[in-house]
Amino acid sequence: MCYILHMDTKELPETLIEAIRYFSDPDVCLKYAISLRWPNGVITCPQCGSDQVMFLANARLFKCRGNHSRQKFSVKVGTLMEDSPIGLDKWFAAMWMIANDKNGISSYEIARELGITQKSAWFLAHRIRLAMQTGTFQKLSGQVESDETYIGGKARNMHKWRKAREIKGRGTAGKAIVMGILERHGSKDTVSRVRAKVIHSTATPTIEKEIRAAVEPNSELFTDELSSYAGLDKEYTHNVINHMETYVKGNVHTNGIENFWSLLKRTIRGTYVSVEPFHLIRYVDEQSFRFNNRKDDNLARFNQVASSVSGKRITYKHLTGKDGLSSEPSA
Ligand SMILES: [Zn+2]
Repeated sequence: MCYILHMDTKELPETLIEAIRYFSDPDVCLKYAISLRWPNGVITCPQCGSDQVMFLANARLFKCRGNHSRQKFSVKVGTLMEDSPIGLDKWFAAMWMIANDKNGISSYEIARELGITQKSAWFLAHRIRLAMQTGTFQKLSGQVESDETYIGGKARNMHKWRKAREIKGRGTAGKAIVMGILERHGSKDTVSRVRAKVIHSTATPTIEKEIRAAVEPNSELFTDELSSYAGLDKEYTHNVINHMETYVKGNVHTNGIENFWSLLKRTIRGTYVSVEPFHLIRYVDEQSFRFNNRKDDNLARFNQVASSVSGKRITYKHLTGKDGLSSEPSA
C-alpha cells in the first residue's frame, strides 16, 4: 500500500501572498492534493479501486499494479482538475482568491496574478465555482426567510412592487430575479445560512418548487405578501410580513435575507460594471458561499473549496452532465 506523507503543520498560509508562496513548492502541492483526494491516507487506483499502487517520484504519478489500461494516474484523476494541464500551484492559488476575495474576483485578475492566460483563468474559476455550489445541498429548517430581488439594467433602481407590475414574463432586457432563502441561526453556535439562485419568474409554480426543494416541511416560513407563497400554507407555518406597516412585529420580518441582498448588491456594484444573467449566477454562488462561511478564517474557507474541487467523484462531467464547456470564456 502507498501511504501519503503527513502535511507540514508549520507556517500554514493566512494571506494570499503566503498561499502563493506556500504552494509554489510542487511537493507541498502534491501532499496537500493527496490529503484531499484520499483523506484516509490510502491511495487507490481510480480504474480498479486497488490499493496496490506505486508512487513514481520523478513523474509525480502513481501506477497501479493491476493489469489494465491507464495504470498510471495523477492526483487530479477523478476530480474537477482531471483534464486540466494547469499545475496544482496555480489551482490552489486560484481557489484561495475565489474563496476569500470579499468583492468577487474576475478571471482577468486571476490571470494577472498567476501569470496565466485569461482563458485558462476562466477555466479554473468556472470549475472552482462549480465546486462551491455543491456545499449547499442540505435542506434548510427551523425559521426560514424567503425573498426575491431584482438586479441589473432598468430594474436596478425600481421598487420591487413596481417591477413586479412592469416586468412580466422572462427575458426582459437587463433584469434578473434572484430568490434567496435564509435559515436563521438557532443556538449560539450556529450562523444563519442562505441559499440563493437566479430564477426566471416569481410565478407560483417556480416559488413553490424552490421552497419545497430547499426547505424542510413544517418549518416556519417568513415571506412578504407575494401571492405565489400562499399555496405553501399547508406545508409550512407561514408568516406574512406586511411592508405597509412601519415597524417589525416580533420575529415576523425578513431582515436576514435583506442583509444578504445588500451584501450581494455591494459586490456587484463595487467590482463589476455590467451584470449579465450568466455572470450573475456565479456572483450569487460566490456571495452565498462567503456569507455561509463568514465566521471561518481564510484558510478554513480555502480548505473547504479545495476539498470540494480535489475530492473524489466530483468530476465536471458528474456535476454538469456534460463533457466540455458550453460557454465561451468571459470575465
Ligand atoms: Zn488499478
